Amino acid sequence: MTAPRLEIDLDKIRHNASVLVHRLGERDITVWGVTKATLGFPAIARSLLQAGIEGLADSRVENIQTMRRASVSATMTLIRSPMLSQAEHVVATADISLNTELDVLSELSKAANAVGRMHSVLLMVELGDLREGIMPADLEETVRQTLRLPGIAFKGIGTNLACRCGVAPDEANMSELSALADALDATFGPVVSIVSGGNSSNLEWALGSADTRRINNLRLGEAILLGCEPLYRQPIEGLFTDAIRLIAEVIEAKVKPSQPWGEIAETAFGANTIPRDQGSIFQAILAVGHMDTDPTGLTPPSGIAILGSSSDHLIVECGKARPAVGDQMSFGLGYSALIRAMGSPLVAKQVLAHQVR
Ligand SMILES: *Cc1c(COP(=O)(O)O)cnc(C)c1O
Repeated sequence: MTAPRLEIDLDKIRHNASVLVHRLGERDITVWGVTKATLGFPAIARSLLQAGIEGLADSRVENIQTMRRASVSATMTLIRSPMLSQAEHVVATADISLNTELDVLSELSKAANAVGRMHSVLLMVELGDLREGIMPADLEETVRQTLRLPGIAFKGIGTNLACRCGVAPDEANMSELSALADALDATFGPVVSIVSGGNSSNLEWALGSADTRRINNLRLGEAILLGCEPLYRQPIEGLFTDAIRLIAEVIEAKVKPSQPWGEIAETAFGANTIPRDQGSIFQAILAVGHMDTDPTGLTPPSGIAILGSSSDHLIVECGKARPAVGDQMSFGLGYSALIRAMGSPLVAKQVLAHQVR
């Protein structure tokens, strides 16, 4: 099989999704499967739906189009605020979008009207992470204006934490979101049906809280694909952390000094960290690099250490292993390594499908 490649185990992804759907279902929380890290990879999207996921969500219109073209049939939500210039596209492609700007909502309204459709929206609320969101004090007025827009169906509110500043979902910010939902219903009648609490970083709170109150939806990507929660990057019990792996091929394997020689200046990537002196080492080069993935997000096989990387090379110290030229090595992936590999046309994608017990 060609390398570098991602090996994608659909059964493990389906298992991960199904476990989370069940655990959250017991708390009356539905799950939208976030496909952005996979560029809307249709086979993965279908596995999520087979696991009982309620809908699919992606940050890019293009990825939603990819899934639609592949006849993936689900409610699709655009989770990045639409670009003003893309309003028509958004209405034509996504069933729901997450919004924070009235100018955009009004453009979506025009676009929906023009084609005689209803477009559903959630309004995102800022609760401290300082990425997208309407300030809580401005929410009521924004909802008032949104409710007046023809062609727009206001479905509820949401928030997103832990993406820019690492603000963790907790009892305080989640109660605030529930209270905002209550306040909107008190003012406008029962208008808030969806309260989308957040992303994979919400799992610990959602599964541990004594009362999740109005929160009835989460948007999950990383937890399903990597089996990991993003706050402390701990594996989630009962989930596979190796559903997706990166395979690369050895193109050089030699005993070399661990220390470089000659005058040391900057490397292509600016750094010039001198490796630790270990005398002579068995070093291998793999045909994979920054063009393909984020080398700092790779986990090597046990006993192997990553020493360095450049655009097209990954250099490892082999410990007691003696890989030969032509051998392939399998790496675990963190989120940064996953998204870059998924996005690279130079990395093949191989779907594995067998039944896990
Ligand atoms: C990326 C994203 C998600 C999913 O995040 P994960 O950490 O992968 O679960 C959810 N909501 C929004 C708005 C996002 O941008």
